[in-house]
Amino acid sequence: MHGDKQAIMKLPISLDVSKNELEDVIEKAKDWALMNGMCLRSKMNFNRDVLQFAPFVLFPSPFPREEFQNACDIQITLNTLIHRVAHDYDFLKETLEETIKVDDFTRNLFDIYEIIHEEGAAQKVSLGILRSDLMLDTSCPKKDTKKLKPHCCWKQVEINTIASGFGWLGPVSTQLHKFVLQELGYTAELNNLPENNALQTLCSGMIEAWNLYGNPQAVILFVIEDVTYNICDQRFHEFEIRKQNPNVKVIRRNLTQLAATAKLGTNMELIVNNYTVSVVYYRCGYEPGQYHTKKEWNARLLIERSLAIKCPSIQYHLAGTKKVQQTLAKPGMVARFLKDENMVTKVKEIFTGLYPLDFDEHGNVAVEMGILDPQRFVLKPQREGGCNNLYGTDIKDFLESVKSEQARVAWILMDRIYPPVHKNYVVKPGTNVDLDTKEFVSELGIFGVIIGDDQNIIVNKQGGHMLRTKLAIHNEGGVATGLGACDSPFLID
Ligand code: ADP
Ligand code: MG
Repeated sequence: MHGDKQAIMKLPISLDVSKNELEDVIEKAKDWALMNGMCLRSKMNFNRDVLQFAPFVLFPSPFPREEFQNACDIQITLNTLIHRVAHDYDFLKETLEETIKVDDFTRNLFDIYEIIHEEGAAQKVSLGILRSDLMLDTSCPKKDTKKLKPHCCWKQVEINTIASGFGWLGPVSTQLHKFVLQELGYTAELNNLPENNALQTLCSGMIEAWNLYGNPQAVILFVIEDVTYNICDQRFHEFEIRKQNPNVKVIRRNLTQLAATAKLGTNMELIVNNYTVSVVYYRCGYEPGQYHTKKEWNARLLIERSLAIKCPSIQYHLAGTKKVQQTLAKPGMVARFLKDENMVTKVKEIFTGLYPLDFDEHGNVAVEMGILDPQRFVLKPQREGGCNNLYGTDIKDFLESVKSEQARVAWILMDRIYPPVHKNYVVKPGTNVDLDTKEFVSELGIFGVIIGDDQNIIVNKQGGHMLRTKLAIHNEGGVATGLGACDSPFLID
């Protein structure tokens, strides 16, 4: 697809609003966002006590209804898949064996996993708050030209098992867009914006885990970064938990604080200051830089050893690595975890080509492919949080430099997805809005909640979504990393 003119997707409403009306609605939308907590702390002018609205696109973005429904429908199966992967010690060990030789971060996680596996987990139940991220694709060879759709299918970008954010910013973006559409007189169109109950679903999952723990005095611990920029997203979870059950208290600590204060009780309870912790919800701990010293790693180990229910537990964290994603795309792998053949086929359809860079014949072929046609791929290390991947000629340069080094096995190569483009206006704090429409592409995230142990799945549900949109010319689009904007889907038929 690259090189060709990209396929276009259109909203069934006009974006040609007069300059005056546009400026007016932009000002209103900014204030709506500020006054409804659709905000972030500023990285540029940091002040804990000040919030800015999160970048957003003014209009919701078109998304095909059928594909949206498919993505929601498959989530429960993806939850099951990840749950089973997380509970297959042999699979995780075999899959990550080569990676952990060269990737220290994954090895540190894996070392904790090994310790827990040998000792036996005090808490067998895990809480998974997952987000499967996907993009519509235009480059699939099976394109059905008769249907005249700008896309052919959708493909999974990745599945997040730790710190799956936007449980608040997702739904509040839908509310903002409803407001904007109403302001412009599009009331009949409002029901094209699907209901988004992400926040309620994720928080009810945490409360269900809290109930399972069975101590009415116990608290939920949010493990947070040293500085939280995406503060509204986290705090609204806390407020929603209180709303759903007024007896549940949330405490927030970073890994360094936990290293100094967290202890294990006589029955392996996690004790932080005077609190017993029932559920640990990580919004941090997915990047090497978040573990400043060995102390923070020890804190993670201590939490894993404890009786608290972890979101995610260490095996869930490992199940979300890019290496696991690539391994699942190999023939026969999904069938190892899902019995229903129909579902296996459906899951495999959402995978793009994923290629290991192991030191063998397949790995060598992948390295050569990447060097020859880098525009076709994205090159990914075992990292989360955005801005770690390589694109275009950087792939070529990097692969040439690591070709004969062991380090290459820490990376995977993935087919690049080229989504259809659509037009919009982007609104960012501190800058004037460009009143010419620009071309954007979007990434949809579908939330899932799963609770269970190695024997049983107790809760398995899909609930809510989020949409992030970036300029079509950009490689990545994280909102927290400053490249993307909050968005919501407008379903089109
Ligand atoms: P992270 O764990 O850092 O979020 P991702 O795999 O989600 O890593 O990649 C980050 C971003 O890079 C995505 O949000 C998307 O914008 C872009 N990206 C990742 N994989 C692809 C792909 N196969 N095709 C096109 N863009 C991709
Ligand atoms: Mg991602």
